[in-house]
Amino acid sequence: MIIIMKRNASKEAVDHVSNIIRSKGLEVHLSQGQEVTIIGVVGDKSRLADQNLEIAPGVDRIVPVTESYKLANKKFHPQPSAIPVGNTEIGPNTLTIMAGPCAVESEEQLLLIAHEVKKAGATFVRGGAYKPRTSPYSFQGLEEEGLRYMAKAKAETGLNTICEVVSEAAIEAAVKYVDMIQIGARNMQNFQLLKEAGRSGLPVLLKRGLAATIDEWLNAAEYIMSEGNSKVVLCERGIRTFETATRNTLDISAVPVIKAKSHLPIIVDPSHATGVRDYVSPLAKCAVAAGADGLMIEVHNNPACALSDGPQSLTFPQFEVLSDELIPYAKLAERKFR
Ligand code: PEP
Ligand code: MN
Repeated sequence: MIIIMKRNASKEAVDHVSNIIRSKGLEVHLSQGQEVTIIGVVGDKSRLADQNLEIAPGVDRIVPVTESYKLANKKFHPQPSAIPVGNTEIGPNTLTIMAGPCAVESEEQLLLIAHEVKKAGATFVRGGAYKPRTSPYSFQGLEEEGLRYMAKAKAETGLNTICEVVSEAAIEAAVKYVDMIQIGARNMQNFQLLKEAGRSGLPVLLKRGLAATIDEWLNAAEYIMSEGNSKVVLCERGIRTFETATRNTLDISAVPVIKAKSHLPIIVDPSHATGVRDYVSPLAKCAVAAGADGLMIEVHNNPACALSDGPQSLTFPQFEVLSDELIPYAKLAERKFR
């Protein structure tokens, strides 16, 4: 539940209510808006049944939170969150572009791509070092060696870095090398991994599962946040439908729906959503127009020879054109970009 304080409620009144909640062994999450303070309560609220908090000094009203996710819920935190990562912030007034290869293939490849995407306006370089491939015979990634190249790319370009993690060991390694970890679509409901990601304290990009509802996705975010890590950014990357013309179906409605239900930023990945290079640019623009806080785009120096996801990877000139074309969209959406 949340307790909405009156506009003029004093600090003493807020502390008084918070102390009662804590004394019952429940957690308090304060959201101090410009005018109104909201006290979020996490835990078994029946422990407060005999407290008559409705009539405590400074309390305006009590609203139950019926959704099972609390910390990710907009009711707990009505203002959109800005998530600090590396030298930047994701949401709500910025347009963050993460770009790079599907997989880190070699040091030279990653450094070349990092320099190019930076020139074109990206603020993150992405690259998978642990690849969760559909087939066990496909390239599985360079693992820690790939992470070292990510750190080198950061040192050379100043770009922020993001890498997918697939295990506890991968998280332990990633903490040493990258600014943000990614939980991929296939692991969205790997609850143990979500908890480990929460405990790592690193900012987490949480991709939507292939067949996950928005409710399940926000509950996955809650797993990370309930470990004390509020640095979570969501990523819509397409879901499974009956349509086969594209690799997945981009659920663009997820952007306004997430904005209505959560304070967490949401970015869109049109590369994995479509699997087709030609469809990336129109959907990237669509995502910005719909209110996305950023984009994740696969870019490769030689897509025809890429070890994974070549058909959906943009070439350098294509990424540059897209980035230029995004400028008016970012302006219309009132987002800082380039
Ligand atoms: C990726 O971003 O490299 C990836 C594998 O994406 P997804 O988990 O969305 O399939
Ligand atoms: Mn990929």
